[in-house]
Amino acid sequence: MEKSSESTGRVWLVGAGPGDPDLLTLRAARLLMQAGIVVHDGLVGEAILAMARPDARLISVAKRRSRHTMPQDEIGALLVREALAGNDVVRLKGGDPFVFGRGGEEVEACRAAGVPVEVVPGISAATGAAAAAQIPLTHRRDASIVSFVAGQCKGLTDQDWAGLAGKGRTLVIYMGVATAPQIAEKLIEDGLSPDMPVAVIENATRPAMRVLRGPLAGLPDLVARGKVKSPALIVIGEVAAEPETNLRALALEMNP
Ligand code: SAH
Repeated sequence: MEKSSESTGRVWLVGAGPGDPDLLTLRAARLLMQAGIVVHDGLVGEAILAMARPDARLISVAKRRSRHTMPQDEIGALLVREALAGNDVVRLKGGDPFVFGRGGEEVEACRAAGVPVEVVPGISAATGAAAAAQIPLTHRRDASIVSFVAGQCKGLTDQDWAGLAGKGRTLVIYMGVATAPQIAEKLIEDGLSPDMPVAVIENATRPAMRVLRGPLAGLPDLVARGKVKSPALIVIGEVAAEPETNLRALALEMNP
């Protein structure tokens, strides 16, 4: 992937997975090792960035919640500007670009400017965390519906959450650490049992991974007393229950 022979470069929106570099796709790894410009957000860790070409220009466009973040339209404009200047650009995003990754807006910005753009899927936090914590998101006995929801305050109360959680369903909440108390309150208000199992998975697939479990009613306390920090996912449903047999030892090991 050298600089394009035509005058316009290309943009690749690449999913970097949930953290463990081994969970990159082969295509993501190959593009990362070839790109001259890598535009990445705060969720992409050092171990993955270290795979970039030694002379690659690494541009960080976002930091964690509450710190400075480049506005989305400026990110789109940056990708377009570099591509129109003839550069091939890898836009590296945590997880999958199209799951709460704002990849849709970046694709639109490229298309509007006539810049060729491709999307490389990544392992999203939900599937990465589920695998690492051995919480099956679906299970013939326990769940045949899975929902992925964004838990930030905006949209939390005006959305209808009834039907997303309960018997036979798994609800996975991204970006819900700060709003965990409102999430628990709303679900219980909507009729979910306060005893419904909950798992909070922090830093999934990274060395500092933790899995905390408890009943829905105890979610605010679990997050506060466990000092859970972003990035973390909240999984609500029967599948999140404490494992009964051999998995218990593993869970204890991860969460002494
Ligand atoms: N596009 C990403 C999601 C970005 S939104 C994806 O597909 O995974 C950011 C949220 O993703 C975080 O607030 C957190 O809820 C979740 N997240 C990302 N990486 C995570 C990880 N390693 N462990 C737990 N949650 C993670």
